[in-house]
Amino acid sequence: MDIEKKVWEVLLSEEEISETLKRLGKQISKDYETKKLLVVSLLKGSFIFTADIVRRLSIPVRIEFMTTSSYGDSEETSGRVKIVTDINKDLTGYDVLIVDDITDSGITMKFVMDHLRKKNPKSVKSCVLLDKPDRRKVVLKPDYLGVTIPDKFVVGYGLNYGEYYRNIPYVFVVTSKDR
Ligand code: 5GP
Ligand code: MG
Repeated sequence: MDIEKKVWEVLLSEEEISETLKRLGKQISKDYETKKLLVVSLLKGSFIFTADIVRRLSIPVRIEFMTTSSYGDSEETSGRVKIVTDINKDLTGYDVLIVDDITDSGITMKFVMDHLRKKNPKSVKSCVLLDKPDRRKVVLKPDYLGVTIPDKFVVGYGLNYGEYYRNIPYVFVVTSKDR
């Protein structure tokens, strides 16, 4: 693939990810201690982040998965979110925390928050590992945020490049060699 001929620049190392998980895990465990936490993980991008963050929680948690898509294989959002797989669960009484890999335009997270609110939960909040606020198209501020990053296309730790490289254990950006 053309990506292999390019330069990979590490944006978030495994150590930095680990530190971030530790901090977020503590904060969420504290904030949801007396609540009824239900994590909704947005596939596919957040599968690794979700698996890691829930193992940092010291409180009981239920986990559900939703598959959303808007990007297809392109790097730009289409502006439309498609729910590929919804959760078939009554959310009454639950404090929902939506976990995603990254907020870019913010359209996906806002759409899913509005969608899940209709299922009657007690609260709905968001947690993302990465945030690109420069690209926002809707008003959205993640409630739990790992790291703010510049407007660059990032890959690894769940994030894909043409559906590959999700398994790379760190986050990187691709630059051309002659830069
Ligand atoms: P948004 O709806 O906020 O524009 O985009 C959210 C989704 O787009 C993310 O969950 C992620 O799947 C994808 N996305 C946004 N930025 C990037 C990026 O830099 N790299 C990759 N691989 N996916 C991204
Ligand atoms: Mg995604």
